[in-house]
Amino acid sequence: MELLRLEATLLSLGDRVLSFDREGRPYHYFRRGLTFKRALDGSLHLRYREGERRRRKLTREEALEVYREVLALAEVHLKDAQRRREVLRWTPEGLLDSRPYREAYPWPIGILPPDAYLSVVLQATTGCTWNRCAFCSFYQDRPFQKRSPEAFREHIQAVLALLGRGRLLRRGVFLADGNALALAEPLLPLLEEVGRAFPGEPVLGFLDLFTGLKKEASWWGRLHALGLRRVYLGLETGHAPLLALLHKPGHPKEALPLVRALKEAGLSVGVILMVGAGGKAFREAHFRESLALLSELPLGPEDLVYLSPFQENPHTPYARLALEPLEDLEGELQTWVRALRPWA
Ligand code: SF4
Repeated sequence: MELLRLEATLLSLGDRVLSFDREGRPYHYFRRGLTFKRALDGSLHLRYREGERRRRKLTREEALEVYREVLALAEVHLKDAQRRREVLRWTPEGLLDSRPYREAYPWPIGILPPDAYLSVVLQATTGCTWNRCAFCSFYQDRPFQKRSPEAFREHIQAVLALLGRGRLLRRGVFLADGNALALAEPLLPLLEEVGRAFPGEPVLGFLDLFTGLKKEASWWGRLHALGLRRVYLGLETGHAPLLALLHKPGHPKEALPLVRALKEAGLSVGVILMVGAGGKAFREAHFRESLALLSELPLGPEDLVYLSPFQENPHTPYARLALEPLEDLEGELQTWVRALRPWA
């Protein structure tokens, strides 16, 4: 069965479901318990369950094979003439070609909160002003830089060219990279550019305690007036000794005045906590004090709490701490979820 939506083409074939954007590029393919997702750079990422949740990036050959399969299915089952043209103009190699992505994003996108995966990502800044958290490797390849309004305008045009009619799938604008909201006055003209290119779209971005606390409470109202709607606050833990060990500046308690100021400005907040960080040695204190901190924050139904399963990166200073990891991260995640459920 084919489903023709303004923003996407869907093919449902029993145990297979294929989704294409309006440029005709597959962005999601479900096949008997396997989920393939195409990233903006053309790479394919596989998710599946083998006891616990697993994910991996496909090799070039594997990705080409899956793209061949998807196009062959579309050729047989997609009937609408316009949608057929959109999809069948692609080749497996064309779908995998990362050059258009690299033109729009010379510095690849690092990480996004899960509910921002389908936003338009704009790099008002690249890198992170701190870049020294022991566990973080996202921006080690780049210095912190901000774009001038002119350069940002060009970047917006390059991103729009990359997305094409795939833009129809996306809602909201995510201001990347690590902490674009660390900017003071220079952020304002950049937000104005976003407002001109994406009128009425909600703007989202990461924030950290140590940059957020440098701002006056009234600052957040000015950003709200320019379209900012949600900030994702990387608290990581409510346990101060663990935060210090992670080499992230600030004290967890400082989240209280910051979240209060954000909420008073009309912003919603996505609080990020890293389940499993600190391993066995910190498990109990991390859990207890993170929940205690959450219970004090003035969060409402419009806010989110992200429980991010901690993945140790062997190329970070965290790995040198040699902390014994939790044996059952999935089980720990469920413990946190159960503890938070009464608030949901
Ligand atoms: S502040 Fe955020 S982006 Fe910067 S190093 Fe720490 S975790 Fe990474």
